[in-house]
Amino acid sequence: MTTYKTFDYILVILFVTTTIILLLANTPHETIIIFCLFYALAFSVISLILKKNYIKSTNKINEILKKISEKYDIEKHNNFENKITELNKLQKEIENLKTNQRDKTLKMIYENLEKTTVRLTEELTNTKIFKINRNEFLGNVAHELRTPICAIQLSLETLINGAVKDDNVNTDFLKRALSHTNRLSELSNDLINISELEAGMKLSKRYLRINYLINEVVNSLHFISSSRKVEIETNFQIKDSTQVFCDSDAIKQVMMNLIDNAIKYTPEGGKILITTTSVDGEIFISVRDSGMGIPQEDIPRIFERFYRVDKTRSRDMGGSGLGLSIVKHIIELHNSKITVESKVGEGTEFKFGLPV
Ligand code: ADP
Repeated sequence: MTTYKTFDYILVILFVTTTIILLLANTPHETIIIFCLFYALAFSVISLILKKNYIKSTNKINEILKKISEKYDIEKHNNFENKITELNKLQKEIENLKTNQRDKTLKMIYENLEKTTVRLTEELTNTKIFKINRNEFLGNVAHELRTPICAIQLSLETLINGAVKDDNVNTDFLKRALSHTNRLSELSNDLINISELEAGMKLSKRYLRINYLINEVVNSLHFISSSRKVEIETNFQIKDSTQVFCDSDAIKQVMMNLIDNAIKYTPEGGKILITTTSVDGEIFISVRDSGMGIPQEDIPRIFERFYRVDKTRSRDMGGSGLGLSIVKHIIELHNSKITVESKVGEGTEFKFGLPV
């Protein structure tokens, strides 16, 4: 538009000055009239050509906008791969139009359209990943639910079909059903937890004495650790009065999951050491065990939902496969991160920091 208007102004100024010069030079009136007619004709032709180019470009832009709005209906389309390829093609076409366009305003419009297609491609890619993850998650949940439900069903059916009258087995079947019900309940609690965390649950942070919190968790797990003959030791290198800024329930859950895992994956006679240290104004908490360890290739994946190194062992121990994923979420909500070091056959150490 700017070029088009500028051109208009130049032609008008040129026309006015030439006419004034011709008048001042006492040019015969017929010549001035012929000049005016010629000038008007030339002016109309040039304007027409420019306008035609402009109309062509606006039609093209309209067409592109229509294409974009149709392609970007995420709800309507599931074929993300095709949509992304088409958007990439459209982006290249816009890039060409932009390069060949000399009008500044049109160039800017093409530039914005190009940016829009880039952003839409990114959003389509993210939505695609999100849908894949969601489907994978739902598949995993269904799979995790199926095992305990089938086991409960089988126990109850066996009891109904006569085992209920057999005093040698009836209690066993009931215990089996109860243990799988506990597993279902643990799984549903973990699922609720993870969905709350992923939905952006608000933490209620306050200052609390971390050594006391750890002792509380250790005491609550004492029964399990002693029944598995695993010793838990604490080494607090910070004063008992030291306070950290965190959500009490959430950090208790982190400690519970880490120590519970350490107990589960450490053989009888093993040891767990919990340490608190202070480094550069930050408090670090470490849970180290002398257990089976984690193979190096599995370490990057253990925080994924439902990822287990040894699937059978984890399920037998009653693990939902969501514990470390919950831990990671909570630590990240405290603007910190959790690290893990492990050696197969020697043990594992999980460590994270909290602000003072
Ligand atoms: P699970 O309920 O299976 O324990 P988690 O998310 O808590 O699920 O842990 C994921 C996997 O990481 C476990 O299945 C186990 O293979 C591995 N893991 C976690 N903690 C330890 C540990 N202290 N020692 C060895 N392996 C561990």
